[in-house]
Amino acid sequence: MDLTLTPEETAFRDQVRDWLEANRPGPVPDGDEESRFEFTRAWQRTLHAAGWAGVSWPTEYGGRGASLLEAAIFSGEMARAKAPRPANVLGLVMGGPVVMAHGTEEQKERFLEPILSGEEIWCQGFSEPESGSDLASLKTRATKHDGGWRINGQKVWTTLAHVSKWCMLVARSDPGSSKHAGLTYFICDMEQAGIEVRPLIQITGEAEFNEVFFNDAWVPEENVIGGEGNGWMVAITTLMNERAGLGASAAVGLSNDLDALIELCNRRGCGGDVRIRDRIARLKIGIEALRLGSMRSLTAQIRTGIPGPEGSVAKLQWSSTNQALAELATEVLGPAGLERNGEWAYKMLRSRANSIEGGTTEVLKNIVAERVLGLPKLR
Ligand SMILES: Cc1cc2nc3c(=O)[nH]c(=O)nc-3n(C[C@H](O)[C@H](O)[C@H](O)COP(=O)(O)OP(=O)(O)OC[C@H]3O[C@@H](n4cnc5c(N)ncnc54)[C@H](O)[C@@H]3O)c2cc1C
Repeated sequence: MDLTLTPEETAFRDQVRDWLEANRPGPVPDGDEESRFEFTRAWQRTLHAAGWAGVSWPTEYGGRGASLLEAAIFSGEMARAKAPRPANVLGLVMGGPVVMAHGTEEQKERFLEPILSGEEIWCQGFSEPESGSDLASLKTRATKHDGGWRINGQKVWTTLAHVSKWCMLVARSDPGSSKHAGLTYFICDMEQAGIEVRPLIQITGEAEFNEVFFNDAWVPEENVIGGEGNGWMVAITTLMNERAGLGASAAVGLSNDLDALIELCNRRGCGGDVRIRDRIARLKIGIEALRLGSMRSLTAQIRTGIPGPEGSVAKLQWSSTNQALAELATEVLGPAGLERNGEWAYKMLRSRANSIEGGTTEVLKNIVAERVLGLPKLR
């Protein structure tokens, strides 16, 4: 692993930095959820117009064709500039890469550009009320019908479903199958009568995610991705992309928050308290371990071409460090840390989801034990 940037990579970093300096929109302003979402959509349009929306996407699909390292540099610079996430984050990180990897030419032609521009928002319909970690036990049914498929069942925790045009939907297409076999991956139009989206209010008071009910929803055959019965294989591509490359930008984001926390401690007069200093030092070590580990897994990905299970380590480190950081900040603030609209109160409450979303801590520990450390399987 060599972390020194080449002159070309340094030039790329400076180009990104200069552009962000001139164009970053500032933090998402206060307001209702809809106006804040539209702000991030406008930001995505700005990124897209300058060719920064799909940095790692190949140029033939409207991306910038950046190398993995350049993409990591870009995410790091975005975090450094405290730039908001673009609105169509699930489309950019998962939907697009899945279409590029498993889609037909017609599907690439139809779906990729509106993902980049943010014109069509995507959501991920994987989890169900009784199938989260054990995704392969999902029960939503897809039945062949007249040149397409009828979908019946329920998904849950579906982030952005309320603003989405398309859903990456995994459903059981072979009724006699169980587990990983007999699943198919669909791109399902959310704007139809057979779909009902009900918001779920989180501990923060926001409704980022939803319950989604499919009642004879319709998906035409041309919206099957990767072929009938191959849904599990396609879903794995989605999940690998979800965790890949998370670490580099996460470490920068955490560093920003740690700086703010140190400033807060000094302002509140507890920066010299050895107990606080000890916890800050632990956070700093955690962030540095995340940064270096991410560089190592990036190096492995550059060599092999595929994101490895190390992405799970970064997700674990990020979630535990982010939770510990926000908890310390609220402790330092005392009762003021619990104010409803306080920045740290929000961060602390939102961080509770970090050890569940994108794979729970327990499940990721199993992955790390078995696939990274080579320990025997539990069962
Ligand atoms: C903010 C947020 C956004 C989300 N967005 C989406 C989305 O857009 N699309 C989507 O499809 N899903 C989404 N999810 C759902 C998320 O993927 C699931 O919540 C997660 O996979 C866990 O599934 P579950 O909630 O059914 O819990 P379960 O799988 O039922 O787990 C319950 C508990 O058992 C533990 N457990 C389960 N299996 C094992 C095991 N083998 N070994 C040890 N412990 C185990 C878990 O760690 C957990 O503590 C989101 C979740 C959150 C919090």
